[in-house]
Amino acid sequence: MSQSVNEELTQAAHCRFCGAAVQYTFLDLGMSPLANSYLKPSQLNHVEPFYPLRVHVCARCFLVQLEEFASPDQIFGHYAYFSSYSDSWLRHAKSYTDLVVGRFALNQQSQVVEIASNDGYLLQYFMALGIPVLGIEPASNVANAAVQKGVPTIVTFFGEETARELVAKGVQADLIVGNNVLAHVPRLNDFVKGLKILLKPRGVLTMEFPHLLRLLAESQFDTIYHEHFSYFSLFTVERVCAAHGLAIFDVEELPTHGGSLRIYACHNMDTSQARGPRVPELRAREESAGLTCMETYLAFAEKVKEVKRKLLEFLIAAKRTDKSIVGYGAPAKGNTLLNYCGIRSDFIDYTVDRSPHKQGLFLPGSHLPICHPDKVRATRPDYLLILPWNLKNEIMEEMAHIREWGGQFVVPIPQVRVYS
Ligand SMILES: [Zn+2]
Repeated sequence: MSQSVNEELTQAAHCRFCGAAVQYTFLDLGMSPLANSYLKPSQLNHVEPFYPLRVHVCARCFLVQLEEFASPDQIFGHYAYFSSYSDSWLRHAKSYTDLVVGRFALNQQSQVVEIASNDGYLLQYFMALGIPVLGIEPASNVANAAVQKGVPTIVTFFGEETARELVAKGVQADLIVGNNVLAHVPRLNDFVKGLKILLKPRGVLTMEFPHLLRLLAESQFDTIYHEHFSYFSLFTVERVCAAHGLAIFDVEELPTHGGSLRIYACHNMDTSQARGPRVPELRAREESAGLTCMETYLAFAEKVKEVKRKLLEFLIAAKRTDKSIVGYGAPAKGNTLLNYCGIRSDFIDYTVDRSPHKQGLFLPGSHLPICHPDKVRATRPDYLLILPWNLKNEIMEEMAHIREWGGQFVVPIPQVRVYS
């Protein structure tokens, strides 16, 4: 074992946020390849690295967190996820832009910075209003797509160092946006320290991340993969912000990604933002759901095993009656589900995805081929298993034509359900 791997294992034994020794296992999903490591045909006969997918929970701050095995470079250097290929996510970005521009009176003199700005899916809407933007994105291939659209983007991992460099160049933000990035950050304290530095004295920070409350309540264990180092409740994220001098003054619950939080934060000394009632209300709801109680976390694993058993029962029964099943989508969460449940071409013939960046590749671990959605019409499967279940309504609308031959939709989470 190399020196660096040893160091990582030692680090992983302590909470990513508070540094307490982490002794409790929240969930053990076995060995899994990196969920976004889609394979080219030429890679199918090669060794594929699998890493433990084991999640811990800290008894002091209740941060649910993954042990770190792969380096961020391995994970994020080349990312196949282009945000602009999801219509519903683009609509979400547009309505967010309208909301914050109005609420915080952003204009041509404001500076908006987005961390993990992907292909510019969000900043393009601010630019259209003439508001200066800057994207920060570690994956060079998606960052290049943003630059080609004219969205100024720097290719780097965000943290204290990047924030200091930007401030030295005179860049500070009136609005910092971090959508679905907080969970991906291995060095959480360094990241939040950077946010504090980059934010203007009266600036506002908004971040969206999947809500741990919903993960627990709806058995969304497939949202766990190596790229997601942390899983947050409001309880824990408030502690993380407070430790770095940031205060959460408002929170919204969103339907995105199966249930996300959008937190609004400012400097803790900034009294210009009214502290709204939604923060204490959600804090109380989390407490009554048991999120500040270790037993709640330790009871989750059994629930997940039951989801697996039910899904396999359905698939086995379908195959026993000669039904054909294909997948829809190639999201990271689908790879956790398929690999944890041991589902491969023995159950699913292939999957389809609208993104041309994924078509022609194979899912990691299960090696299911990713095809163009048109293939569904040509092969007329009995069941279409929707892997990005958070987009099920959009997908059932788009693929409504499977009903012409009696095809049905199957949604695996929170429990297997068939839609005729
Ligand atoms: Zn902790």
